[in-house]
Amino acid sequence: MIFYDSFCIPFIVGAIYMALKVGWKYLSWLRHLPASDLKLIAKGLFTHRTLNAAWEVIRESLLHARIWRIDARLGYMHTSLAFGWFLLIVVGWVETIAYLGWKWIPLQGHVFFKYFVPLNNITSHKPVFDFVMDALLLIVLSGVALAWWKRRRSRSLGMRRTTRHLPLDRVALTALWIIFPARLVAESITAALYGGGSFLTGGLGSLLDSLLNTSTLRALYEPSWWVYSSALGLFFVTMPFSRYMHIFTEIPLIFLRHYRLRPTVEEKSYDNFEIEACSRCGICIDPCQLQSQLSNHEVQSVYFLRDRRYRMLQQKVAYDCLMCGRCEQVCPVGINLNTLRLNSRVSMRNTPNEGRYSYLRSVDPSQGSGKVGYFAGCMTLLTPKTLHSMQRIFDAAHVDVWWADRSGGVCCGRPMMLAGEIDAAQKMVDKNRELFLKAGITTLVTSCPICLRVFRESYHLEGIEVLHHSEYILRLIRQGRLQLRHSTDSFTYHDPCELGRGSGIYDEPRAVIEAVGTLLEAEHNRRNAFCCGSSVANTAISDSQQQTIASKVGAELEATGASTIVTACPLCKKAIMRGSTTPVADLSEIVAESILH
Ligand code: SF4
Ligand code: SF4
Repeated sequence: MIFYDSFCIPFIVGAIYMALKVGWKYLSWLRHLPASDLKLIAKGLFTHRTLNAAWEVIRESLLHARIWRIDARLGYMHTSLAFGWFLLIVVGWVETIAYLGWKWIPLQGHVFFKYFVPLNNITSHKPVFDFVMDALLLIVLSGVALAWWKRRRSRSLGMRRTTRHLPLDRVALTALWIIFPARLVAESITAALYGGGSFLTGGLGSLLDSLLNTSTLRALYEPSWWVYSSALGLFFVTMPFSRYMHIFTEIPLIFLRHYRLRPTVEEKSYDNFEIEACSRCGICIDPCQLQSQLSNHEVQSVYFLRDRRYRMLQQKVAYDCLMCGRCEQVCPVGINLNTLRLNSRVSMRNTPNEGRYSYLRSVDPSQGSGKVGYFAGCMTLLTPKTLHSMQRIFDAAHVDVWWADRSGGVCCGRPMMLAGEIDAAQKMVDKNRELFLKAGITTLVTSCPICLRVFRESYHLEGIEVLHHSEYILRLIRQGRLQLRHSTDSFTYHDPCELGRGSGIYDEPRAVIEAVGTLLEAEHNRRNAFCCGSSVANTAISDSQQQTIASKVGAELEATGASTIVTACPLCKKAIMRGSTTPVADLSEIVAESILH
């Protein structure tokens, strides 16, 4: 049987090159994984985790379930390309077996089967296969058409902006767009000359037969297969260097994630899987307020990952980010965008331990002796109304409090951590941790979501329950320890990023507000809430830019018609006050003002 022709060369060379290059990349990334990550893989390999991962590969890499939930048009575009192409390969494989039985056929024999059909005198065409293959080709072609349309009119597919691509991405993209129309033409000319094909290739073949004479069709026959093979070859050669590396990389990433591998505050080999799994789909662009509210189109996660992948990451891209998490929660690949940005900052800016913070050892501003500790944090100390309100709440509930930092103290460490200075941050963590443990507290309450997050994630305070004041106040209300007046006042609530998306606390502040008045929800709330714009994570943003974001956020909250804007973060309170004429209060303030006795 003949399964070779010279036009197959671009395809064969491209496929071999791609397999070697991709295989080499994965091997070198796996080889450099730390021993702890390798142990996790070994532990999870022969467990249900592998099956769960395989199911997720089908759901996400082929069917793109998460993208469907974002926008059905985008979902169809991605699924038709990925799953449609996959099925073309699988059904094509089955077709060759159906014709030729179980025997080894070189790869190009499967891919260019329609070309080799007349060469091998396979005359018994199976209309069912022809129909299915034509239907699949049509589905893929519709995906190509949508992808092409998206680059011109992205809004019609639910995206305000699309990704700006590098030249190599454009080459790969062009090759991809050519592959399927080229296949249609090649198979249709073949059908015109030798018969076969169904409603699509057979139909177009009949049309070509009626328009062109046989010698013209013969002259076009070989070149059409050359174009198809060359487009495949070009796509395969550019693929490992372009955004399309995501096609394969998302698969090992899903498996590694199921084995519990995660990026950490320090860069490691695993990060490569996350970075190269980014498809540059651009879904993370629209939610970014730096883009939508400041017209900054350079720093979004898609560009951060791209720049890091090609080792051209600049400080301004790494640092001009609020780390608000709005992009991370929509990323269909589930990339840990904040952690990757954080560990890039650590690589850029961490100044190893050189005794800069040795004075911390002598700082002990704590007061009181209760089992409930209260840590105000730097920002709460700068918004003293919150601190005074917490005092009134504790007094009303007869709570004996140990005040960790009432008159000043050591920062929780998270701002330094977010800036990439993890050694300095660790000194603060160690200092505060020692203080908490020495005090013998069993509960630690804080009004600052930034502190809350670092206490929960990095302090390892075994035996101490860490609560945000919204959780603690709600507990006091539910225990009947706070008697509150329910007024006719209306409140709207701003979800702080670190409390909502960062810590998953959405319901407790709302329940507290409803205990004292009426809650009016803003358009962007809960997981979709806007960032206040003054995040400590962004050290590159200007004051006027922060003001611009605050004004937009303030305007949306004011549009609810509420008499007071409530938030549960001292930083958000200060920021929104700058962008709003409506009074802004911390959650503790409206509770303190409603205490009956
Ligand atoms: S980070 Fe996620 S959402 Fe953004 S381009 Fe990459 S895959 Fe798409
Ligand atoms: S974390 Fe927020 S500010 Fe940073 S890129 Fe994502 S959406 Fe934009």
